[in-house]
Amino acid sequence: MKRNIDLKEISDGRLYEEKDMVRAGCNDCKGCFACCTGMGESIVLDPLDMYRLTCGAGFSIEELFGQYLELHVVDGLTLPNLRMRTTTEQVSQTAGTGIIPQESKEQEQREGRCSFLNAQGRCSIHPHRPGICRIFPLGRVYEDGDFKYFLQKGECKSAIHTKVKVDKWIAVDNVRANHEFLNTWHYFLNDLEERVGNLEDMELARRLNLLLLQTFYLTPYDASADFYRQFKQRRDSFLQLLG
Ligand code: SF4
Ligand code: SF4
Repeated sequence: MKRNIDLKEISDGRLYEEKDMVRAGCNDCKGCFACCTGMGESIVLDPLDMYRLTCGAGFSIEELFGQYLELHVVDGLTLPNLRMRTTTEQVSQTAGTGIIPQESKEQEQREGRCSFLNAQGRCSIHPHRPGICRIFPLGRVYEDGDFKYFLQKGECKSAIHTKVKVDKWIAVDNVRANHEFLNTWHYFLNDLEERVGNLEDMELARRLNLLLLQTFYLTPYDASADFYRQFKQRRDSFLQLLG
């Protein structure tokens, strides 16, 4: 998701690569789930997240879209995001848990909670959580065909912030392939946004959005095959179809 921001205002003023140390460590989020509540539509999923949730966490695509995800339009493209639950019944699941700070509970009741947050206020899919959750409180800034990470100042509610290496923090198997994928996906979406934005034929725009969803989110991935290879094949066939 694109944001018009002044990095100097929201970061510690530095940009980080995967080999760098950053003050993002948060004491294993002990007693806190602030960034799993009230996130609105902001936790947008990419194809690797779909692979993680289906092949890693074992959800079917139907289950995900039935209970945990929703679709919304981001910069002209229809993409899935984590769904926040807001009903009293759903948010009261953690109400009797003594370890949860009052501040987190109040925020949860006001703004809803991630559908994957369990009754103990922990992420029920932690090893398979989406990329945006993995990097928080880091963000990514894209420039000149590449990206770097930045630390979002004041976003993490932990009282303690320790130094960790960025690649350890984001915890992915193949750091180089992951970097290449994220970059390719970002600029691929950028081009597509521009293409869709320039279309006068709304029916064609709708069909392009459907093709995007079908290609990268609704067609099951093969758990026994490398994700990055599958992504490349899907992107190539999508681009071929676009001509
Ligand atoms: S706000 Fe910080 S400490 Fe709290 S859950 Fe998020 S990352 Fe963990
Ligand atoms: S997927 Fe897990 S880490 Fe991400 S917002 Fe939901 S509960 Fe929190």
